[in-house]
Amino acid sequence: MLQLVNVGQKSLSDYATIATRGLMDEIRRLAEPLAGRRVVHLSATSFGGGVAEINYALVPLMKDAGLDVEWRIISGGDEFFAVTKAIHNALQGSPDGLSKTQEEIFRRYQALNAEELEDDYDFVIAHDPQPAGMIEHFENSSANWIWRCHIDLSAPNPGVLGFLIPWLTRYDAAIFHMPEYVPAAAGLPHSYIWPPAIDPLTPKNMALSPEDAAYIVDQFGIDVDRPLLTQVSRFDPWKDPLGVIDAYRGVKEEFPDVQLALVGSMAHDDPEGWDYYSRTVAHAAGDPDVYILSNLNNVGSVEVNAFQVHSAAVIQKSIREGFGLTITEALWKTRPTVAGRVGGIVAQIQDGETGWLVDSPEECAEACLEILRDPLEARQRALRGKEFVRRNFLMPRLLRDWLVLFNLLSGNDTAGAELATVVAGG
Ligand code: UDP
Repeated sequence: MLQLVNVGQKSLSDYATIATRGLMDEIRRLAEPLAGRRVVHLSATSFGGGVAEINYALVPLMKDAGLDVEWRIISGGDEFFAVTKAIHNALQGSPDGLSKTQEEIFRRYQALNAEELEDDYDFVIAHDPQPAGMIEHFENSSANWIWRCHIDLSAPNPGVLGFLIPWLTRYDAAIFHMPEYVPAAAGLPHSYIWPPAIDPLTPKNMALSPEDAAYIVDQFGIDVDRPLLTQVSRFDPWKDPLGVIDAYRGVKEEFPDVQLALVGSMAHDDPEGWDYYSRTVAHAAGDPDVYILSNLNNVGSVEVNAFQVHSAAVIQKSIREGFGLTITEALWKTRPTVAGRVGGIVAQIQDGETGWLVDSPEECAEACLEILRDPLEARQRALRGKEFVRRNFLMPRLLRDWLVLFNLLSGNDTAGAELATVVAGG
């Protein structure tokens, strides 16, 4: 059996006043006909990155809504995760394709994992490409299979996308963050467009006072009386930590006391992480005001929260970004947020209105300078950003979207429910 993740318990009623009014009633109504339905989420890791972050909140809330939900982790050796990282990179636009050997490794692990999965679910949700091929081994499955894509598919490597398409066409539905990500390929199922969400009640996102945040950040050696810029991200070329350091250097010319924190955990399914971590350390060239921290420094959820709360500006200078939960998290904490004008980031930040969108390290530096020069004006933007998150990107809304889809796939009436955008397959 595939490893089961223990997600603990959450109660929907705790969210009643944080979410939009009416949403809770809608959730209860949509959940009623789905009581007891068996759901399994399949993903590559329970640690590090956005999928894990979402599932730790979504899975227990789906359970509390009355469904019988599991989250299981597929298994794979280093050779498999090297291939899935190559697939991930290619889907985000890397020109490097897959060798025949790599394709073979991918297929082999799909078969191995499929053997370990029971076929007694009503809904099977495969997150991202890593488990996407398991469906091939469930020819007569009575379950509805759903592919949930979390990555930026706006300019994929066509060869690698083509390698995955025969599996994707077998699904009953696919979900993307943005309409631009829906592949232009024949035979795909209906695609639904909805963004992910954050959990406002987790240690990562719960309200933390400025004093507590400063106390925590201080323990990492940061001078809490000097301005801090922070990027929270896996060490990954698409997150551009080197570009963040360049931007920080630009800021330092005008604000010599500015500090930078790069906080990045090492996901188990990300073999590139250490290599990019080393490159980032080298690029910082021993600057004592640059702090490069990871989960190995005990930077867990509360610490990430503290860094975000304490920062004068939060940066997410991605070059590709499926959605960018770190941006949602920063906006929710009323932080002036500077982010790359790519992927799902543009669905979250309206440039000049709720944050800053940038296309280069120079623009990133300029945005941070604006924030440091006029913190009051920056706060006005951040306040608007927070309300945008409240309306659009909190967990009850995501649960609602899933329940609508489960009802649709079950042929149930969803009248009155606000539907996610649908792009017809063909
Ligand atoms: N994260 C974390 N610690 C880290 C780096 C990232 O807790 O050191 C979290 C971050 O707070 C966010 C998620 O991991 O919740 C990253 O999601 P995002 O969508 O930004 O990027 P992904 O890693 O999925 O590409």
